[in-house]
Amino acid sequence: MNEKVYAFLDTAKKTASEIGHAASSVGYLARKEAGKAASNAQVNVRILTKRNEIRTAYQELGKLIYDKHTGNDTDPDGLMEKLEALDTLHLEVAELEKQSGRVSVVRTCPTCGAEQKQGDAYCRACGEKLKTE
Ligand SMILES: [Zn+2]
Repeated sequence: MNEKVYAFLDTAKKTASEIGHAASSVGYLARKEAGKAASNAQVNVRILTKRNEIRTAYQELGKLIYDKHTGNDTDPDGLMEKLEALDTLHLEVAELEKQSGRVSVVRTCPTCGAEQKQGDAYCRACGEKLKTE
């Protein structure tokens, strides 16, 4: 084979490898996007699971308080433990929401600056009527 043929083969090989590389980066990006979507779905499932745990914890909390009221309080430390567990669950949900790109907007009282919880009609700190949307 002469030099020209070698040169041609060399170019052809290089081009093929470049095309292959480009194709595999496209594949990589596509896989990366798919992976991102999958992990978003996973995060959303975890958020829903945590929200269910929060709902269950509220129910248990209500029962503990009612048991206290009726004098059937069999678990005096249970109340504090449940409250702390709820704090943790709320933090975990906030963290997961951050991960999923959902920004949980923190609203504050216009009068005293205390944090509002979703659905609050009045400020928990100063009693100011809050705008609800
Ligand atoms: Zn306030």
